[in-house]
Amino acid sequence: MPIARVALPVATARAFDYWIPQGIVVGKGSVVRAQLGGRTLVGVVVDVVDESEVDRTRLLPLRDVLPATLPEDVLDVAAFVASYYQEPAGMALALAVPPLGKAAPRPAPVPVKLTAEGHAALPPRLARAPAARALFDALCAQDGTASVEFIAALAPARRTLLRQWRAAGWLAPAQPTIAPAGERHVLNDAQRAAVAAIAAAGDAFATFLLFGITGSGKTDVYLAAADGALARGRQVLLLVPEINLTPQLVARLRDARPGLAVATLHSGLPDGERHAQWQAAATGAAQLVLGTRLAVFTPLPALGLVVIDEEHDASYKQQDNVRYHARDVAIWRARRRGVPVVLGSATPSLESWWHAREGRYRRLDLPSRADPRATLPRVVLTGNRAARDLDGVGEPLRAAIAARLARGEQALVFVNRRGFSPSLVCAACKWEAQCPRCAARLTTHRDPPRLRCHHCGHVERVPAACPSCGNVDLLPLGFGTQRLERALAQAFPEARIARVDRDSTRARHAFAHVRARVAARALDLLVGTQMLAKGHDFPRLTLVGVLGADNALYSADFRATERLAALLMQVAGRAGRAGLPGEVIVQTDFPEHPVFRALVAHDYPVLADALLDERRAGELPPFAHVALLAAEAHRRDEVDAFLAAAHEAGVALAAEAGAEVTVFSPVPALLSRRAGYERAQIVVQSARRAALQRFLPSWRDALTALPGRRVRWAIDVDPAGFG
Ligand SMILES: [Zn+2]
Ligand SMILES: [Zn+2]
Repeated sequence: MPIARVALPVATARAFDYWIPQGIVVGKGSVVRAQLGGRTLVGVVVDVVDESEVDRTRLLPLRDVLPATLPEDVLDVAAFVASYYQEPAGMALALAVPPLGKAAPRPAPVPVKLTAEGHAALPPRLARAPAARALFDALCAQDGTASVEFIAALAPARRTLLRQWRAAGWLAPAQPTIAPAGERHVLNDAQRAAVAAIAAAGDAFATFLLFGITGSGKTDVYLAAADGALARGRQVLLLVPEINLTPQLVARLRDARPGLAVATLHSGLPDGERHAQWQAAATGAAQLVLGTRLAVFTPLPALGLVVIDEEHDASYKQQDNVRYHARDVAIWRARRRGVPVVLGSATPSLESWWHAREGRYRRLDLPSRADPRATLPRVVLTGNRAARDLDGVGEPLRAAIAARLARGEQALVFVNRRGFSPSLVCAACKWEAQCPRCAARLTTHRDPPRLRCHHCGHVERVPAACPSCGNVDLLPLGFGTQRLERALAQAFPEARIARVDRDSTRARHAFAHVRARVAARALDLLVGTQMLAKGHDFPRLTLVGVLGADNALYSADFRATERLAALLMQVAGRAGRAGLPGEVIVQTDFPEHPVFRALVAHDYPVLADALLDERRAGELPPFAHVALLAAEAHRRDEVDAFLAAAHEAGVALAAEAGAEVTVFSPVPALLSRRAGYERAQIVVQSARRAALQRFLPSWRDALTALPGRRVRWAIDVDPAGFG
């Protein structure tokens, strides 16, 4: 009697045995449904054996087998993730299982795009039409276009909607704006050298760090390198941080290579469509797979090249459930498959920079902007203090905005804080509005006026008077996007202003609308958070103002400076990209700080080297390998007791293993209470990755055996920060 050994998404390292009913055919990698403790779970067959150690009468049958099979190398990737990140195998495998929605029958569709009339006419009609709204949002998430694959995956009712919208003129056949053939393939010398280096790797593992300033044409290099792999009949995996924030890359791809079979994979897709896209990749029908971090687990039978765009981006690291880093997993997979991998960035992570400096990665530089008319923006630093009385927007920035408005150009003002002000303070007794569930201040919001916690979502009314002393003079301190928007509207009453942050773009089409309005020159001023920092090219945007950058300098997180540098260089890169010279005005009280000096000089290498020196002196990554044990419970004494025992066990195990691993004492997390949970952590580190990897499994076993059932804990290997 054959037995299927199934890994299920539960917090245990072991697999579960089931007998295989007549008529069901399964093998290693089959995705199946099975019952566990009264629940039906989706799992993956990791082995088929003849005998189980469990008594035959106590075994359950497999429920059924689903139409998906994970190939050997995806099973290996999941096994690597489980062992490296200290996660149960079934949880890691669950990342690779596609959503199994119904794949719709295939019509013969034509790609379509929302027209300007559609953008105007549809939104008011969606309020009481949830199906239409969902379809509209899905279109906007793809920058208004519906690909052939997208339409094919729609339910019949939705396709009927599409037909009606087309008849009304709200959709039109998508016409790829193909650049003239002469322009398409002209790469500059640096781009050509990069493409040649990648091509020379052929079908062998090699890691390239493509370091190119914003606007230097990294995408052209990706495309040309992809052409090489495609010409050999291979598939290309292109990972991007967030698809909704990089619609122009998708559009570029469709425009530059209209015949290419592209599958897109991200969590925003409806299950049915995601399954169809996954199948296209797994059968080899899709030549290029474009996706967010979860796409790193996609079966790709003919994989020939892996590209990771914006490799430094924090969204590649999953922060809950299985805490893996998609960039590092992608590199591991490229090595396993023996194919080259290209990491692209204008501000590479210090880890990648270090590997390139050490010769483990090959650095390819794109030192100038691809469009010869586009020059680098001039960066000006101005004081912050004088701006405080001017609603945060200092005189130099005001004058520069006025000049842009007079010339019919556009400006962007960036502050990485949403809401009106980050705190509310009593002028008389210094009372501050605090979240009752977190060790954090509440942010004031307008429209409607509320106090909101950005950590747990707690919302309350703005008090009419100080709850502590009764004083009615409550002051909002500091600046968020809403306050900035109001200040700019008062200063420039004639300007057309839009705000872009998580609050203003909650409806999924909202951001696409703003982009369309900027492109149509129906907006003069943009105010927003880092949502605005990523690859949007607005040719008439010639000024970028940056406020509140100094806040990041006060952060206790060891990656804060690196992140600030990446964010500032990205934001600055929005200014002046096509012939019109750009200007960046940064308000700071620390003009001598290396981050700002690097920004003025457009010199990331000098900054990266300086930051690496700091990391070396502080024995921080990449010079040390780090893992974090994060624990939380409702009661502080329970967390403390758990971590004290965890520390003791860790110290003993480290001593046994030859003292190559340091187990630090428990400390409160940067946010010491969140959503009613007391939070604390232990950092463990080692100069050698292998020593840390040997230590962690035994420590994890010891932790599992500890008392403390009300404590939630997790091990985070290579954490994004010591949060
Ligand atoms: Zn008071
Ligand atoms: Zn809170």
